[in-house]
Amino acid sequence: MNKWFLETSFPGVRRCKRDAFLIKKEIFKGKSRFQDIHIFESPGFGKMLALDGIIQLSQSDEFIYHEVIAHVPLLSHPAPKRFLVVGGGDGGVMREAAKHPLEELYQVEIDSQVVEVAKKHLPFISKGAFSDKRLNLSFTDGKEFIKKYKNFFDVIVVDSTDPVGPGEVLFKGDFYKLVYEALTENGIAIFQLGPFLDFELIVRPTAKKLQKLWKFVNPVRLAMPSYSCGCEYCFMIASKRINPLNIKVSHLARRLKARLGNKACSLKYYTPHMHQASLMMPKLYQI
Ligand code: SAM
Repeated sequence: MNKWFLETSFPGVRRCKRDAFLIKKEIFKGKSRFQDIHIFESPGFGKMLALDGIIQLSQSDEFIYHEVIAHVPLLSHPAPKRFLVVGGGDGGVMREAAKHPLEELYQVEIDSQVVEVAKKHLPFISKGAFSDKRLNLSFTDGKEFIKKYKNFFDVIVVDSTDPVGPGEVLFKGDFYKLVYEALTENGIAIFQLGPFLDFELIVRPTAKKLQKLWKFVNPVRLAMPSYSCGCEYCFMIASKRINPLNIKVSHLARRLKARLGNKACSLKYYTPHMHQASLMMPKLYQI
C-alpha cells in the first residue's frame, strides 16, 4: 500500500485544494512545545519538511524560495551590515545571507527543535550557516525579540510559518511596527506571505497594513512547485527610503559581483533580471 502525506487544509481559497505527496521514506516525526515536526522523502520532491501538517520546504525547490527572500532585499540595499531573520529554523535563509559580506547576522527562532532536527536530517539546507562566526542565534518569540532593537538592522527577513499557530503574531500590525522601528533609515524588510491564491485574504490586507508604515511596498512573485498546488507564491518587500523598483539591472549585477564574488556561481535561481522580474506584477496582483 502506498503511503501519502495529505497537507493540512488552510483557511481561505486553499481550504478547497489540498496537496498529497507520496511518501517514499519516513525520516522524522515528532512534536515540539510549539508544533508537529515531520520530515519525509517523496519521489518527485526529495526530502520535505512539514510543520503542523503544512509543507515548509522541499529539497527540489527550496533554493528558489531562499535565494529570492534573501538576495532581493540584500541586493536592493546599498550597503547592508546588520541582518536579521525571524523564524527560518531550517537555515535556508541564513545559508544565502551568509554569502554576503555582512558584519553581523542575527536569527530569532521560536522553536529550537526545528533547528536541531533540520541540522540533523536536512543539513543541505543550512550548509553550516548555523556555525557562522557572525551569527547570534536566539530561541524566543520573534515579536518579543525585536522589541529590544531600534534603528539597528539594515535588512530583516521574516521567514515565518503561516498565520496560524506560533506564526500568527508575525502577521499583525503591531509586529510590523516593531519591524519598522528596528530598521535603520535605509532599512528594508521582506515578509513571507503565502500563495497569490489568497490575495484578498492575506496579500492585499498585509499590503495595506505595511503601507501605513513604509513608503515603498511591493509584492515579490515566485513559482513554488511544492507549495499549495504549485501556485504562484508571494513575499512582500517593504522599504523605508529606497524604491526597489528603481534599481537598474546593471546596478544589481555590479552589487552581486562585488559582494558575492565567486559565491554567485552557487546561485541556481537568482539573477539581476529575475530580481526585477520578481517585482513585476500582473494586473490582478497589483496592490
Ligand atoms: N519556508 C517556510 C514556509 O513555507 O512557510 C517557512 C520556513 S521556517 C521553517 C518557519 C519558522 O518560523 C519555523 O521554524 C517556526 O518555528 C518559526 N516561527 C513561527 N512562529 C514564530 C515566532 N513567533 N517567532 C519566531 N519564529 C517563529
